[in-house]
Parts: sequence; structure tokens; C-alpha cells
Amino acid sequence: MTNSIEVKDLTLNFGAVSVLKNMNLNVAEGEFVVLLGPSGCGKSTLLNCLAGLLEITDGQIFIKGKNVTWAEPSARGIGMVFQSYALYPQMTVRGNLSFGLKNARVPRDQIEAKVARAAEILQIGPLLHRKPAALSGGQRQRVAIGRALVRDVDVFLFDEPLSNLDAKLRSELRVEIKRLHAKLGNTMVYVTHDQIEALTLADRIAVMRGGIIQQLAAPQEIYNRPANLFVAGFIGSPS
Ligand code: ADP
Ligand code: MG
Repeated sequence: MTNSIEVKDLTLNFGAVSVLKNMNLNVAEGEFVVLLGPSGCGKSTLLNCLAGLLEITDGQIFIKGKNVTWAEPSARGIGMVFQSYALYPQMTVRGNLSFGLKNARVPRDQIEAKVARAAEILQIGPLLHRKPAALSGGQRQRVAIGRALVRDVDVFLFDEPLSNLDAKLRSELRVEIKRLHAKLGNTMVYVTHDQIEALTLADRIAVMRGGIIQQLAAPQEIYNRPANLFVAGFIGSPS
């Protein structure tokens, strides 16, 4: 199988502090990989490196076989969804969904078709005229996902997209994200510190600690055969 993402010997230092240490990671096309680890272990930093929002100190990043180590974020074929929605408050949902496409000079009829498709998939059609302030947390997060969806990207990066939501909504949106992935078949790299989220969503989980991947394996494998005491303790303890 082709690799959608290849991270080779990636090191990221903030000043004298090494946050990602000589990391290697391959994600297959269509795979759902969850980066799981405690706060501060470098999950967001790794996503930001993949997205091109941070300049790496050493190593290489390939997306669909292309070396994108020094490529602009917009040239990487990646859509990123953040914890804090990052919607434009003054724009309607429709405006939020179409903004990036307008900037990229996508023709208007294509924008309309892409927005309609995303709205249908995410069931936000009736909300298109509203502004973010008039949406619930779950609805905002759907719009944030929609913004990545309209761009037809191959790779979705999610940074703790559900952590601001209550338990009920979290489990609902978990199911939805799973369905979305089954429907689109794209590659997902999904960051969370929530063990349940990781176990239910992932094809493979990368358990991280201190900027190092401790174990990368299928959920069952990690659960049944943790590579070390840290992994055992982290997966074993309730969130
Ligand atoms: P996580 O997402 O796993 O909670 P982060 O990737 O946000 O962790 O952070 C990893 C480490 O890098 C933390 O120790 C954090 O304090 C540090 N860090 C993150 N961003 C910066 C920055 N811009 N400058 C310096 N240190 C940072
Ligand atoms: Mg983080």
C-alpha cells in the first residue's frame, strides 16, 4: 500500500528544548491514525509540522510521495481542524465554508456545489445562513470539519476536535467522524489525549510521550500487548 504520509527522522526544537525527537511515522493511504498521549507530549507540534505551520529543525516530510518539508501549508493537500473551531465570527456558515475556495479563485458554481455537498454530508444545510455565534458547539465543529471537506484534501488533520464538547456530543460526533472517514476514505491523523476516543476511532494508535512514539499499533494490540509500562498505564487508566 502507498504511504500517504511519511515522516523521516523528524526533529523539532523550540530553542534549546527538543519537542519532537528523531521521529519516524508512516501513515497508509486511507488510514485513520490517532496520536494519543498526555498534554505536552508534542501531539499538536507534530500536526503543525505536517500542516506546514511550523518549520522543522531536521528530517523530512513526504505527502503522497512528494517531499513537502519546505512546502507552503496550502500546497500540501492537507485540511486541518482545530479544537477551537477557528471560524470567522462575522461570516455566515456559508461564508466560512466558501472563504478559502474564493481565495483560491475556484469558480462560483463549483464553490456552490462543494458547499452543498459538505453541508449534506455534515447535515448543516439548515444552518448555512447563520453566524457562528448562533450555533452550538457541536454545530460549530461540524462547520470546522466542513471547511476542510470543501477543499477536497487527501489528508485530514484533527487536533482534539471534540475536547470542548460535553460527553454526549463527543460520543455522537465520534460516530460521525467515523462515518465520514468510511464515506470519504481519506487519510486521517487525529490527536487526542482521550483513550476511549483513540480506541474507538483508530486503525492504529501512536502512543506518544516526551516527543517520542512509544508504540504504534492497532488498538487491540496496544491494549493487549503494551510495549512498556508507560503505554500500559496510559491506556489502562480511565480518562
Ligand atoms: P500536546 O499537543 O501534546 O499537548 P504540544 O505539541 O502543544 O503538546 O507541546 C509540546 C511541548 O512543546 C510542550 O512542552 C510545550 O510547552 C512546548 N511548546 C509548544 N509550542 C511551543 C512554542 N511555540 N514555543 C516553545 N515551546 C512550545
Ligand atoms: Mg495539543
